[in-house]
Amino acid sequence: MRASMKGVTLDAASSTATALFLLGQASDPAPEAGVTCPGALPAPNDPGLVARAQRAKAALGDRVVVLGHHYQRDDVIAFADVTGDSFKLARDAAANPRAEYVVFCGVHFMAESADILTGDHQQVVLPDLEAGCSMADLASLAQVERCWQHLEDLGVTGVVPVTYMNSTAAIKGFVGARGGIVCTSSNAERVLRWAFERGQRVLFLPDEHLGRNTAVLGLGMSRADCVVYDPNQPDGLTPAQLLEAKMILWRGHCSVHQRFSASGITEVRRLLPGIRVIAHPECRYEVVAEADEVGSTEAIIRAVEASPSGSAWAIATELNLVSRLAHQHPDKQIVFADRTVCYCSTMNRIDLPHLVLALETLAEGRAVNRITVDRTTAANARLALDRMLMLP
Ligand code: SF4
Repeated sequence: MRASMKGVTLDAASSTATALFLLGQASDPAPEAGVTCPGALPAPNDPGLVARAQRAKAALGDRVVVLGHHYQRDDVIAFADVTGDSFKLARDAAANPRAEYVVFCGVHFMAESADILTGDHQQVVLPDLEAGCSMADLASLAQVERCWQHLEDLGVTGVVPVTYMNSTAAIKGFVGARGGIVCTSSNAERVLRWAFERGQRVLFLPDEHLGRNTAVLGLGMSRADCVVYDPNQPDGLTPAQLLEAKMILWRGHCSVHQRFSASGITEVRRLLPGIRVIAHPECRYEVVAEADEVGSTEAIIRAVEASPSGSAWAIATELNLVSRLAHQHPDKQIVFADRTVCYCSTMNRIDLPHLVLALETLAEGRAVNRITVDRTTAANARLALDRMLMLP
């Protein structure tokens, strides 16, 4: 028997494949990324792409601000008015109230944060709606609500929810409505201290590695103080384990940063003796424990910039950023801290054709691929964001 779904014909024998979509050929409303990109996309081999993007951006003038995340491709970053990590870019969006349009060259949750922090007169555009985030997709609102109810049913009290910036607006809203807070990879330690002044334990969403690394390396907890809640096995932890835990870590991760391994760092040190290793805190505990320094994307950039000529760095973060740093600092030796190359595939979906589509349609007065967050979610998410922004 054969079944047809959104243009994809499948054998009943391979029914497990029905959950899968061929990239770019269908849409899945469940993941954070949402829907396919409408509109007539320019051909990637169009030799006039750079000129078209320049023309459209010039026509828009001050009416547009283009934000570029550090993990974006070089040809897209070339058009960014501002570059930064997700939090810095959201603040930069808010700091440009004159811009009618914010073109966010990043991923979906970042554009949502920009929409929450910008004024009602501003429209936020994500050049490709399929640029989602595998980490954000690992915590849906329904799953988190189930987890919260589960904790309540078991009498696990004094829980303060904390969510990483890399989560959907819905999760930020859930956290904000329950007295919780957002954190970034730069301020996670300060945020956890704030949370532990208000409760006995933290539900940390959606990145188990950032939660564990901060609790153990920043707050001096033991790894045994942390338990991992798997939304696919809600009964996997006993009531006693949950009651004894200080950190209830959501089972989620970044598909890019989780690839780095302690053995990879050992290998790079063997090949390049004396090299300094710096790792992003989304990497596994074994990796950050092995590194010489741990830091957010912005901290990694600052460490490389501040180091003297002749320094050697092995960097455990996304490859577009590492290779850009290598080009910007030819007087330093900069290598990727893993054997295999890995870009953030969803970030990389924002390419020149999608940027041209976004800018040209805006220049025509149409905002395609607009990201909007509903008012209630935005108001609750804003509570969680503001609690973070008010931290000293
Ligand atoms: S690098 Fe990881 S956390 Fe960042 S957007 Fe990509 S998948 Fe998400």
